[in-house]
Amino acid sequence: MGMLLPTSLAERLLSLCRQPLGSLWDSLTALLCWLQAAFLGLGAEERQQGMGHNLWGEPQTEEEGEEGEEGEEGALSLIPTSVNYHFTRQCNYKCGFCFHTAKTSFVLPLEEAKRGLWLLKEAGMEKINFSGGEPFIHDRGDYLGQLVKFCKRELGLPSVSIVSNGSLIRERWFKDYGEYLDILAISCDSFDEQVNVLIGRGQGKKNHVENLQKLRMWCRDYRVAFKINSVINRFNVEEDMNKQIRALNPVRWKVFQCLLIEGENSGEDALREAERFVISDEEFEEFLERHKEVSCLVPESNQKMKDSYLILDEYMRFLNCRNGRKDPSKSILDVGVEEAIKFSGFDEKMFLKRGGKYVWSKADLKLDW
Ligand code: SF4
Repeated sequence: MGMLLPTSLAERLLSLCRQPLGSLWDSLTALLCWLQAAFLGLGAEERQQGMGHNLWGEPQTEEEGEEGEEGEEGALSLIPTSVNYHFTRQCNYKCGFCFHTAKTSFVLPLEEAKRGLWLLKEAGMEKINFSGGEPFIHDRGDYLGQLVKFCKRELGLPSVSIVSNGSLIRERWFKDYGEYLDILAISCDSFDEQVNVLIGRGQGKKNHVENLQKLRMWCRDYRVAFKINSVINRFNVEEDMNKQIRALNPVRWKVFQCLLIEGENSGEDALREAERFVISDEEFEEFLERHKEVSCLVPESNQKMKDSYLILDEYMRFLNCRNGRKDPSKSILDVGVEEAIKFSGFDEKMFLKRGGKYVWSKADLKLDW
């Protein structure tokens, strides 16, 4: 488009010079309309590609483009490149710091959820992550499987992932849906079963750590990239996890600092009181320092986490976390993505800064299965 524009423009100007004065005004009007359409088209194309062009038609880097973006705040709409869809709030665990609690038991009918996902794809979504609550709890994982299959097969998304506590996943699910899933992230905060019980991840006779090893094996057998998520809190902040993480060898180990969200795990109408789990920035840094040799570690402090995720709740409303609580937008099913996303509070720069865009398709990960 950048190369095409000057040539077409020159041709149109030349044809204007050759015309009699009588039709000059009509031609000028047509030229103006054409210019407007051409520049609007160029803008849309650039937004899709996530980069701008400078005055000479050369691509701008993200940093170069920042100033222009600020000046036109509101003029450019956000692209939902990577979306986290928390389609259920139900969970079989009771983690004390949980920040997406069971405030409702609502789950959208399957066809409605698919319609919303289609709208997101139309708006530029490349990666979808299904989360909860526990995403495998609804319809014994079949609802989730249907969504995963739809996103990969019908929508052709480059990346489809799930975050789960792992306790309800059966091998049958991998047989039915494993081929459509790029990444499975399992939450694991400790390799000491007693600490897991203290956190609220204890499941009676079931052992969370043994279950993790079984899931690791299934991921290898069914060719799904395996990831681990850990929330660092008061009860695991002293732990040394080097040996166990190395043995499990995930593609990514995401390490979060325990975060307070009003109305979810803090404050009067919250279902949890996470204050006793909170650690300081220094304590979080010490944990990271202890594990700095683990190459797949991706740290996420409260600062990095804040506003850098596009979160959709069970009604497909974007949740705005800017004020330390989750304020919902209208549903994308009612007002469309472009309108709803304006209220998401999403900070695209922080998303890029925290490395939100990475190699997220299993085809590109080139894993040695
Ligand atoms: S497993 Fe996840 S969703 Fe369930 S209670 Fe724990 S943090 Fe919350």
